[in-house]
Amino acid sequence: RRVVDRLGNAHRPTFSVEFFPPRDEQDEAVLWRSIRELEPLDPAYMSITYGAGGSSREGTIRNIARVATDTTLVPMAHLTAVDHSVAELRNVIGHFAAVGVHNILALRGDPPGDPMGDWVAHPQGLNYAEELVRLIRELGDFCVGVSAFPYGHPRSADLDIDTTYLVRKLRAGADFAIAQLFFEAEDFLRLRDRVASAGSDALLLPGIMPLTTPKTLRKTIELSGATPPRWLTDRLEPLSGDAKAFRAAGLDVVTELCERLLDEGVPELHFYTFNRSKATRELVDRLGLRSPAPPLAVSAPS
Ligand code: FAD
Repeated sequence: RRVVDRLGNAHRPTFSVEFFPPRDEQDEAVLWRSIRELEPLDPAYMSITYGAGGSSREGTIRNIARVATDTTLVPMAHLTAVDHSVAELRNVIGHFAAVGVHNILALRGDPPGDPMGDWVAHPQGLNYAEELVRLIRELGDFCVGVSAFPYGHPRSADLDIDTTYLVRKLRAGADFAIAQLFFEAEDFLRLRDRVASAGSDALLLPGIMPLTTPKTLRKTIELSGATPPRWLTDRLEPLSGDAKAFRAAGLDVVTELCERLLDEGVPELHFYTFNRSKATRELVDRLGLRSPAPPLAVSAPS
């Protein structure tokens, strides 16, 4: 039930799915319907993000534990250093292990409220994801992932510095990195080249947002931290008033992006689901990423 084992053994490209903690009971029902709809597609793993507030954090911890016990999926919990002492982080990590979650995406996180505000570490806490990777490694046999940024992390002075710190956290004991959203395959491939030139052979997985609505496009632009290319806005923005046409064109754009990544040997695509399953299921089918059905048992002729 370790993410790297599933990725390492994959003889064909595969995919994973990301959710966020539900805000209320109704949200939780939607989340679980989506999880159940995606489960038969056999994603390599599923993850739940980690928020800043207490109830959101409880939502991650409760639901990821339920995935571990009630489903066939491989669960990965996101965890951030925001407002946590090392003692609290140890507790959360220990709890994950106790409920059968052995995969953690180790993140520094952003200051609550304003992501670009001053980062203030908890007085007994950690400053960088690299330290969290070390802490998790110290505490048990976890599979650890980290984040990577195709255009550089917004706080990094330049791409060289960004690559240096990314490679440091990979070497601190991470098994793989998931890249933040980006627009063109080349943006991801350049990140992969930078990491390889810095002497790391760590596995990098691209984060993919199904562009179903203008809101998902805006979110992609915001999270990427970059300006989208003209061809993309020219293709999608004129369709903003026509939900059906936007969705069709948006999923075509994402299919083309994924096909190019797969052609370049990317072994796995990580889909942001927004806690819905339909668009991801459609993309998985279009890209032929469904696990083949196990062969039917044929009895020997008597
Ligand atoms: P770090 O790797 O610690 O880097 C932070 C900054 O410090 C970078 O600019 C880096 O270059 C620099 N740096 C790193 N190490 C050093 C060092 N030793 N000395 C000096 N500078 C250094 N946020 C959430 O709150 N919850 C989530 O669930 C979540 N999931 C995410 C999933 C993915 C795939 C991605 C890409 C991001 C996610 N985030 C999440 C956002 C993330 O927490 C923020 O982008 C945050 O600002 C950076 O976190 P990090 O782990 O990359 O930080």
